[in-house]
Amino acid sequence: MQEWPIGVFASIDAGLGVHLDVAQELNIPSVQLHAPHGDSRNPENAKAFLAKCADAGITVTAVFGGFDGESYADIPTTVKTVGLVPEETRAARVQEMKEISDFARLLGCATVALHIGFVPQDKNSESYKGLIDCTRDLLDHIADNDQQLNLETGQETADHLLDFISEVERDNLFINFDPANMILYGTGDPIEALKKVGKYVRSIHCKDGKWAPEGERGKSWGTEVPLGEGDVGIETYLRTLQEIGYKGPLTIEREIPQDPVKQKADVGQAVSLLEELRTKVLGK
Ligand code: MG
Repeated sequence: MQEWPIGVFASIDAGLGVHLDVAQELNIPSVQLHAPHGDSRNPENAKAFLAKCADAGITVTAVFGGFDGESYADIPTTVKTVGLVPEETRAARVQEMKEISDFARLLGCATVALHIGFVPQDKNSESYKGLIDCTRDLLDHIADNDQQLNLETGQETADHLLDFISEVERDNLFINFDPANMILYGTGDPIEALKKVGKYVRSIHCKDGKWAPEGERGKSWGTEVPLGEGDVGIETYLRTLQEIGYKGPLTIEREIPQDPVKQKADVGQAVSLLEELRTKVLGK
């Protein structure tokens, strides 16, 4: 496979991604897939989806978990509702994530991924200890499926994420790096963060964003914008990916499912930008 194949975040049913047809029409050779809802995660659907992918020449490179009840309305709501951190829903979501791992296996995909949520700061808290335990339990299930788990970045600083990964002590836990999230959540300069966590980066998002005003960072959202129009610095991002030895897909993410026409146009422009920069950076 070509180094840095283009990819796009896609959905089967509901979700933030584009429909598979969009990937096909834009000649994008790989997708990360937002896992479908429970009833749809069955062998028949996996087979049908794989057949569609084969027809379109598309490879599924990761399956992302997401859960009912999650809301990204604002940062405080995200803290309360997203991932495995909220304790009321933790056990049920770990179980669902195991089922998503089983579905990914049906798709022949060795990577599952998720937003784990805002990892608690207090390492002596019951919530933190419980999160370590349930992450280990999940990773053991995922290992039985010959898979790895990539954590989406953004909700923690690079240092906090590194501490968490090392405390979990499992060799199938890695990172899906999203530079825009570092900006949107106000958790740190994305390029510095990428250098710090580089050895764990196994998949990435190509997404762009603008910082919230000084004083508001970490409290209210920055703004997601089309690739190349934000504060990430996409050429520097690609050069840093090269520096850390990343060769996997460049998966475009544009989180405006409410406007599919603009979403497709923006993804198309992102493909052109990435193809141009890939040639420039790799020299091929
Ligand atoms: Mg992302």
